[in-house]
Amino acid sequence: MTDMQSPAFLIVLIEDEPQIRRFVRTSLIEEQYQVKEAKTGKQGLVDVGTRRPDLLIVDLGLPDMDGIEVIRDIRLWSNLPILILSARSDEADKVQALDVGADDYLTKPFGMPELLARVRALLRRSVRSHAGDDSVVSFGDVEVNLVQRTVTRNGVAIHLTTIEYRLLTHMIAHAGCVLTHQALLRDIWGPDHADNHHYLRVYMSNLRRKLERDPNMPKHILTELGVGYRLVLASIHQFG
Ligand code: CA
Repeated sequence: MTDMQSPAFLIVLIEDEPQIRRFVRTSLIEEQYQVKEAKTGKQGLVDVGTRRPDLLIVDLGLPDMDGIEVIRDIRLWSNLPILILSARSDEADKVQALDVGADDYLTKPFGMPELLARVRALLRRSVRSHAGDDSVVSFGDVEVNLVQRTVTRNGVAIHLTTIEYRLLTHMIAHAGCVLTHQALLRDIWGPDHADNHHYLRVYMSNLRRKLERDPNMPKHILTELGVGYRLVLASIHQFG
């Protein structure tokens, strides 16, 4: 049933709503993932600690503790990819969860194809970062050589400023993940600039102008409305 060459990925799912749990579990198992379910944050923490899964899916509204606390706790000792599920009422919590180290989110209600695409993207990134030697990364017409520190578009060298380059390579390192405004400002400009959202708007628009075919309809440097940005290397339809 499963691919004999590679053992199935193990996913821990922390979700207190039985219907969503069943829906997510069934779809993941159909895709040959192994799933360990937890109904509470405490149980989920135990499962992540003992089973060492490849990915965590966690609901933010849990009965016994805040999903954000779960993420914060896990990030003290693990880099595993974390996908959060949030209700519309958790909007502020969602940003906070991303800030403390979640990688991506889905807002309820969500469709299964979208969940599966996100799961594949996060697992792919994590496999790639363990493999470790992606010195050339490409998306659209763009090729970035991380060793030579060069950027070309259709083979033509593109000049990026130091900050533009730093921003781009930071997004490449987190490709597929949502990076919040706050986290980007903190990581690129430093803790004193966490509120200077206009920096980001200016630099993202520069990057789009230099790297996107149509800067007004970006295909790779995407805006996550009210949250931050996401770099998509391949179009989502090409996943899997
Ligand atoms: Ca819940």
